[in-house]
Amino acid sequence: MDLEGALEDMRQYFRSGKTRDASWRQSQLKGLLLFLKEKEAEIFQALKEDLGKHHVEAFRDEIGTVKKSINYALKGLKEWMSSKKAKLPIIALLSSAEVVPEPLGLVLVISSWNFPFGLSLEPLIGAIAAGNTMVLKPSELAPSCSSLLANSLPTYLDTRAIRVIQGGGAVGEQLLQQKWDKILFTGSARVGQLVMAAAVKHLTPVVLELGGKCPAVVDSLSSSWDREVAVNRILVSKFGACAGQACVAVDYILVEKRYASTLVELMKVKIKEMFGEDPQASNSIARIVNQQHFLRLKNLLSDPAVQNSIVYGSFMDEKNLFVEPIILVDPPLQGAIMTEEIFGPLLPIITLEKIEDSINFIYSRPKPLAIYAFTKDQRFANRMLSETSSGSLVFNDAVIQYAADSLPFGGIGESGIGNYHGKYSFDTFSHYKAVARRSYLTDFWFRFPPWNNHKLLL
Ligand code: NAD
Repeated sequence: MDLEGALEDMRQYFRSGKTRDASWRQSQLKGLLLFLKEKEAEIFQALKEDLGKHHVEAFRDEIGTVKKSINYALKGLKEWMSSKKAKLPIIALLSSAEVVPEPLGLVLVISSWNFPFGLSLEPLIGAIAAGNTMVLKPSELAPSCSSLLANSLPTYLDTRAIRVIQGGGAVGEQLLQQKWDKILFTGSARVGQLVMAAAVKHLTPVVLELGGKCPAVVDSLSSSWDREVAVNRILVSKFGACAGQACVAVDYILVEKRYASTLVELMKVKIKEMFGEDPQASNSIARIVNQQHFLRLKNLLSDPAVQNSIVYGSFMDEKNLFVEPIILVDPPLQGAIMTEEIFGPLLPIITLEKIEDSINFIYSRPKPLAIYAFTKDQRFANRMLSETSSGSLVFNDAVIQYAADSLPFGGIGESGIGNYHGKYSFDTFSHYKAVARRSYLTDFWFRFPPWNNHKLLL
């Protein structure tokens, strides 16, 4: 069947009302759970092949997180689906009102390669929970994961309502020409702009989950315990999350000049603890997705001024797409490494006179997807909260916000539009319809013309 025909069939299926049933939604969510359970070994294998992810990392970031989200949706579904009572103004005497969530129809999900299961299935959970039909286009850059999704999901889900279409940019463009009721896109700002431009034609609402540079601000923590905790959490959120190829990974660190060498020395020790003396021999750090991204990272380091700022690491193996953790102190701020999203295991540290300067530093740049502030100074924390803007703000940790069902996940400004996760996913894929009901019994006389009789009101 051609694409238009297939989509028309899905629209007809939506019109049949099948996907609106709570039991259909539950069965599809349970189908997803079963897919994750029965295909666990194949998912691990695919993530290993495409990204060199260790199965523990794969479970933490993808299988485990998605299972948690499905269970959360199953638990909340009935309540989310229920209509909520509302009130009409007094002029609508003898009335009742309610807000009724209704599915949007046929939605498109285009996802990225770095968390190929998480970023594909997390939106599907919301789209299913809200009762939609949907097409998923995973990224061609994680081909084993993409084909596992395309070949196996149909066994577990209702194929008249949920389809996986594989392909790259050309297929994405073809899909964007169709009429959708919503598009949720995860990827780069460049393609995000194309998605938004295509959506204009049909006035299709979009959610854009984009990236950017997420800073970690590290205050001069007084105790060695606090310092260790902060460094461990930053390192795992960088090198231990798809080797820094994560939208919420720490992109760079801001720290006071006087404190920088303490931080760097501690990082050197902790990197060795996590990845050993020879990180390439460790299976705990993922590989760069492809040669193009490898060369992009290499290029970020090519400027001699950037080279001179490297204080730790340098090894890059193109054949095996491996880049070891690399730390830089004060690379040029106007260089690509500090103006473009790094998306890899390179970690610049920018030194400031006072930690308070970090607020202006962040404010003068595009709004990040996340800011991570390691501090025990409540006054500084309050300033960070009220004087910066970002998709999320986390104190004393990083990345954990991604796994929270109770928090909206999304960016602001250049880091994205809209949000999802938990109930927010349901909201993203629902329309809240205002429904009002009146009795025929009575009306206030002054509602009706002729207005000349209304002198009393003037
Ligand atoms: P990308 O924009 O190149 O690709 C994303 C998806 O869009 C892929 O499925 C791709 O096939 C498709 N695509 C590419 N060209 C297209 C076109 N012309 N028309 C339609 N679709 C097209 O991004 P990427 O390399 O997959 O991901 C990296 C970016 O994604 C980074 O900026 C990262 O920060 C961001 N990201 C954001 C999140 C988030 O949740 N906010 C998560 C992961 C990645």
